[in-house]
Amino acid sequence: MKILVINAGSSSLKYQLIDMTDEHVIAKGNCERIGVGGLITHKTNDITVSYEVEFPTHKEAFLEVVKVLTSGEGKVLDDVSEIGAVGHRVLHGGEFYKVSTLITEEVVKTIEDLSELGPLHNPPQAAAIRACRSVFGEDVPMVAVFDTSFHQTMPEKSYMFGIPYEYYEKYHIRRYGFHGTSHRYVSGHYLEMIGKKEGTKVVVCHLGNGSSITAVKDGKCMDTTMGFTPLDGIIMGTRSGGIDPSVMTYLMNKENLTPDEMSDILNKKSGFLGISGLSSDARDLVNASHEGHHRARLACEIVRYQIKKFIGAYAAAMGGIDAVLFTGGIGENSGELRAEVCEGLEFMGIELDPAENTKRTGTDHKISKEGLPVEVWVIPTNEELAIAQDTKAIVEASR
Ligand code: ADP
Repeated sequence: MKILVINAGSSSLKYQLIDMTDEHVIAKGNCERIGVGGLITHKTNDITVSYEVEFPTHKEAFLEVVKVLTSGEGKVLDDVSEIGAVGHRVLHGGEFYKVSTLITEEVVKTIEDLSELGPLHNPPQAAAIRACRSVFGEDVPMVAVFDTSFHQTMPEKSYMFGIPYEYYEKYHIRRYGFHGTSHRYVSGHYLEMIGKKEGTKVVVCHLGNGSSITAVKDGKCMDTTMGFTPLDGIIMGTRSGGIDPSVMTYLMNKENLTPDEMSDILNKKSGFLGISGLSSDARDLVNASHEGHHRARLACEIVRYQIKKFIGAYAAAMGGIDAVLFTGGIGENSGELRAEVCEGLEFMGIELDPAENTKRTGTDHKISKEGLPVEVWVIPTNEELAIAQDTKAIVEASR
């Protein structure tokens, strides 16, 4: 079965066509500038095609994806009917979707209704689902895979905030957690490798432009750093991570800020960018810190210290840990960050092998010393494959 994976953002639509017989990527690409112009970049094994084309909405972008897959230099399908199913990444499934689900009209409506909780993602993702449906009709089954689902196993004590309970009842305010597809894929992959799920406790550090850390016990999420929105937890490229909530009201009063302006500062002007005043990109900060830039070094120190604290916190919460797993652009590539995070954790049985930690393999790779109680691994994430695997399993089970 060939599965098309769709990941829609507010002005973009990323796609991958995956052949599930051997899980290889046949083609992938991105439609950008939706609503303000349009650019498609399409890659196959042999060729990269890129051209401008007007994308007023996600529907035109999706039509272009179908066109580029079935015609021109980047053609990989004789006919669109070769696509057996479509898997859609959806940010927010609220408390409704604890696992991935076959898409029906009711599911699309629920995704739209959840837009209040995921205002930047759920509307374009629902639009992409509708665009897809308008092209394929009912013939091609579609599956929604939610970033929040994996975290639905968190116990109440992990997901409730210390504010009046009525706000949970009225507005569903609670910790949801995000990057769930990545946390599930990476932890699941590790548990498969060691062949033991029950009793195994792992901490997954997904570190990219957005970052979150998750405590996983028996293959289930027990706690995670992102919260009601992806703003909570550790500092990220442009997001503040968790701060004392009073800072917001204090700043809003002092600087006469509206709620939207405050939200903009916390989401787009904070984190690496806000602290360093230089860049939101971790590589830039590492380079600048090596050249002696104090605030770039400070941003690196803060994030590494926060990751270390969460590893300790989650080890305490789960009664110990068996493994720490690093993934995401930073987690997979920055040996320097991993070394600093793990430094001083020998008391917990964590110690890296410096030679292994500096190797760049691009594959699953153990970086801790042999014979210690806690293993540390780099495991490249693959959210698209996880979406395609869910889609295949759910579609086959529904037949
Ligand atoms: P996203 O969350 O957008 O999917 P990625 O997982 O691709 O992001 O991660 C992007 C981040 O990874 C950027 O901050 C980038 O600088 C960082 N990164 C990539 N390679 C390295 C590296 N060698 N050292 C440090 N950071 C890196």
